[in-house]
Amino acid sequence: MRIELRQIERSFLRGRTAVPGLRSTSLIIQPGEFVVILGPSGSGKSTLMNIMGLLDQPTAGALLLDDADCAKLDRNSLALIRNRRIGLVFQSYHLLARQTVVDNVELPLTYAGVRRAERRRRALEAIERVKLGHRSHHLPALLSGGEQQRAAIARAIVSNPDVLLADEPTGALDSATGREIVGVLLALNREGRTVIMVTHDETLAGYASRIVTMHDGVVMSDVVRDGGRDQRREAVR
Ligand code: ADP
Ligand code: MG
Repeated sequence: MRIELRQIERSFLRGRTAVPGLRSTSLIIQPGEFVVILGPSGSGKSTLMNIMGLLDQPTAGALLLDDADCAKLDRNSLALIRNRRIGLVFQSYHLLARQTVVDNVELPLTYAGVRRAERRRRALEAIERVKLGHRSHHLPALLSGGEQQRAAIARAIVSNPDVLLADEPTGALDSATGREIVGVLLALNREGRTVIMVTHDETLAGYASRIVTMHDGVVMSDVVRDGGRDQRREAVR
């Protein structure tokens, strides 16, 4: 799925003052890219991810998914895109504590109305893809942080989305485990999925094919790495 942001703005009301989360951000992400979004805390990374993930709406500007303007899509179409075409991963896993790994991974399929046997089959397949098969029937609390994040990634890919949005997926992990998680995301990217990952960690950013740096709600730089050669794209405002 091609993702285009045209002069997206998002401000938040704090009392009577509008706090800018994003200030006129334009960006085009092509299918199959592995984009890392870097930037200090408060620079607008999560605001940007939430808008691309259809969890939030911009105050101004347009979001186009495969050239369709999201502002013109009805609720059902948006829900379908959100459930089938976009997978979301967060720093804090968001697994249901009382459900086993496989039950957690099945959830998006339950919402999509997939039958039980088919749900189970696809959930176990997604769990195998992230190499967590031996943990399928455990509760999340028995898993390490890295394993919980693998479970969350399995849940994100169970509907076979073509875009994976990961907001600081390694933020709660030690650096070796963080690299493993990025390895999982890289493998999913090699299968053709677009991966967009927010991180603070510049060494992890080295795995990406493109690095977008944000500061104070705007894109400061946008560098595409082309076979070892860096090409700086002009950040569009
Ligand atoms: P980052 O993910 O880069 O740390 P965020 O996108 O979370 O940054 O935040 C960008 C700016 O928007 C910050 O100033 C933050 O305080 C503000 N912001 C984000 N979400 C909200 C919200 N729901 N309500 C008020 N302000 C918010
Ligand atoms: Mg954030």
